[in-house]
Amino acid sequence: MNNNQHTAIQAPTMISGARKSWTVMRIWMSISVFIVRKYKSPARFIKIVRRVRQIKKRHNVAGAFKKVAYVDGRIYLSPYNNGWPTRNFNRAVDIEARKAINDPVGNLEQLNTVMIALTKKCPLNCEHCYEGPELNKKDTLTLDDHKKILKKLQNVGIPLIQYGGGDPMAKVNDMVELLKSSDGSSDIWISTSGFNFSKENARRLKDAGLTGLSISLDHHEAEEHNKFRRNEKAFDWAMEAAQHAKEVGLVINMSICLTREYTTKENLQSYLELSARIGASFIQLVEPRAVGNYAGKDVYLRSEHIDIAEQFFVETNADKSNNHLPIVFYPGYHQRKSGCPGAGSKYLYIDTDGYMSSCPFCRNKKTHILEDNTTESSIEVMRNEGCEIFEKYN
Ligand code: SF4
Repeated sequence: MNNNQHTAIQAPTMISGARKSWTVMRIWMSISVFIVRKYKSPARFIKIVRRVRQIKKRHNVAGAFKKVAYVDGRIYLSPYNNGWPTRNFNRAVDIEARKAINDPVGNLEQLNTVMIALTKKCPLNCEHCYEGPELNKKDTLTLDDHKKILKKLQNVGIPLIQYGGGDPMAKVNDMVELLKSSDGSSDIWISTSGFNFSKENARRLKDAGLTGLSISLDHHEAEEHNKFRRNEKAFDWAMEAAQHAKEVGLVINMSICLTREYTTKENLQSYLELSARIGASFIQLVEPRAVGNYAGKDVYLRSEHIDIAEQFFVETNADKSNNHLPIVFYPGYHQRKSGCPGAGSKYLYIDTDGYMSSCPFCRNKKTHILEDNTTESSIEVMRNEGCEIFEKYN
């Protein structure tokens, strides 16, 4: 299968212009109603609004975003925000509201996103894999362990949970069972290469409650992607996964590991356009780190590549002529501007054995997530250590 055979797939629904303004206004109105109902007193309301404004200002991007994504009845602002309206959409605001009025907030409960490595199994061995040395060893966590982890996270209200690996699709039956055991309070995503994402599996996962699919695609050309992923089927898997995800109404985020060679404006534009054709709502630009299969290698982007990626991120999202294309999401931009939200600030990684780390790249292994009496202190240590590369997020 080549790129052109996928051009018939419909573009995602992106909302822009007056409809986008009206949608965003409705979201802010619903947040305001939530704050007023929960916190009642005008003095508290003012404190909370001040804090929310400060945070918004800190994360503001020049020119702002001109669109939002609409998928299966919900609005999505990024792959790291819950769909609106959902039960846990206001969760992030609520945590900041509690901080604004000095209500004590636990280290685990304040997180927005937890990524859990479901399995060490994966049919690939990609050039950059951060779990490379662990791949295809025997899994130590059982389905029952994973159910306990999910329950623990949902009991404190974690709004967004991502399953990665290995490849979670190598254990699709467990993934379906886990989704069925969810209490429905979190948006749950899977990160995959596209392996085993057949139409039937897409339907099973959607019916069990899956929200979105993050598909790894590292080049817009099949041959180059397959070389990077060291498997001649990898590109077709990614394309077919997107097609099936779109057919069943999952949110699609295409995720690329930016190499120095790939980071040109032309390549990024081709990537964006391919992602639009296969139905993605987001593309995510991830910078390589010298961990896993890249350990000890000189893979970090240089300033000229970062400049290209930042310019592409800002200009593409702000340019009205791109309103029909997916939203570009670039965590590195925000990490440089506002500090890293990983390291137990807003994000936590649970590895294939159940141990907590700051993120898949900062592997400062802490205690096991199911050791209840050390969870809070481990996250506290992580927060104090901060990120190895970026400033701390406060
Ligand atoms: S990067 Fe993902 S798909 Fe590639 S080998 Fe690692 S776990 Fe598998």
